[in-house]
Amino acid sequence: MTSGKNPLEQPILFTTLESIADMLRNNPVVKAVKHNPVVGDVLNWSRSSALWPMTFGLACCAIEMIAAGCSRYDTDRFGIVFRPSPRQSDVMVVAGTMTKKIAPAVKRLYDQMPEPRWVIAMGGCASAGGPYNTYAVVQGTDLVVPVDVYVPGCPPRPDALLFGFLQLMEKIKTENPFILEERKIGIG
Ligand code: SF4
Repeated sequence: MTSGKNPLEQPILFTTLESIADMLRNNPVVKAVKHNPVVGDVLNWSRSSALWPMTFGLACCAIEMIAAGCSRYDTDRFGIVFRPSPRQSDVMVVAGTMTKKIAPAVKRLYDQMPEPRWVIAMGGCASAGGPYNTYAVVQGTDLVVPVDVYVPGCPPRPDALLFGFLQLMEKIKTENPFILEERKIGIG
């Protein structure tokens, strides 16, 4: 041991979420086990098993998204639970036509979501402008926020959106759960 002090013997004040996060980041035991592949797998499994999409829709595709959350398709059984605030959400489903007028609001909602966060572009409009090749419509969600999964269709059925969520889960399982920390991007 290089220094004479054992960090685990220092008093820890659990007063704020940030102090708890700092304690976990600097804890030598956590640091030692962090890069164990099993820890990464468990973290990715827990993230992919509890996706919380934001309750937010832009046009007709949003009706199909709402149907996906209702009892017939029941996204809750996959741990996909819609949340009423961007600050409690980690998935944004861009469901519908994004006009240039609403685009700044979409970006603001995305910025209010904590990391790690993911985006699903649902339908032809959100993917590439759909039938609206006009001056007023954004020709693809990726021009405003980064997209992880595209769900094609006009509109896609609720089961297509469910398949999109399953594809997102597979993608999350292959990610490095500490990539944001390594890039010095604030998490949560
Ligand atoms: S893709 Fe079709 S159903 Fe979806 S928002 Fe565009 S026009 Fe409406």
